[in-house]
Amino acid sequence: MSKKNKKELKCKDVEDVIYTDAPKKILKRLECGNKRFMKDKLRNEKQGSVQRKKWNTTQEPFAIVLSCADSRVVPELVFDTGLGELFVVRVAGNIANTDSIASIEYAVAVLGCRLIVVLGHEGCGAVGAAMDGKDMGYNLNHLLVNILPAVKACGCDASKDNVIVENALHAANELTARSEIISGAVKDSGLKIHTGYYHLESGKVDFDKKSPCKKKKD
Ligand SMILES: [Zn+2]
Repeated sequence: MSKKNKKELKCKDVEDVIYTDAPKKILKRLECGNKRFMKDKLRNEKQGSVQRKKWNTTQEPFAIVLSCADSRVVPELVFDTGLGELFVVRVAGNIANTDSIASIEYAVAVLGCRLIVVLGHEGCGAVGAAMDGKDMGYNLNHLLVNILPAVKACGCDASKDNVIVENALHAANELTARSEIISGAVKDSGLKIHTGYYHLESGKVDFDKKSPCKKKKD
């Protein structure tokens, strides 16, 4: 590693990021937008007619977010972004299944996105339902199966919070494990995949929390 101290990115350096920028810079843009959201200082920029006209025939989102469908977790607000800036895939429990992976593949392969955030959140009902293990009917059961690996990894005594963090990490792993397009972009194009944990009251997103449920060695 270089001994030189790399210049630390400031929010003013990342205001106009585009999809070809370094993922690190784009992640900083998301962090800065999230700080504004937390402080009730949303800029609400790039949401009107100028932006609609600009993206009339094309789109160049700078990041992909795989988020829960929960009405309280709205990535475009959480990161203070406008039209055409985030490619958001929302599904209960922010799971990586065939459909959500395929949507992300489109944004990676066709749109050239190089940053993915899998965004879990406090109080996730889908994770709670997967932990309860009750029969929720054909469709929901089908979805909740995708959360069971995190439930299993954390064990019976786990807190819901821990399973939520583990579930986002599991989904992030699934994206590369189940997609040659995504794993190929990680290797060849420097695509980065991060996880986030959203706090309902503060609005804060903690990025890249470590696995709270690593298997204990005997
Ligand atoms: Zn949820």
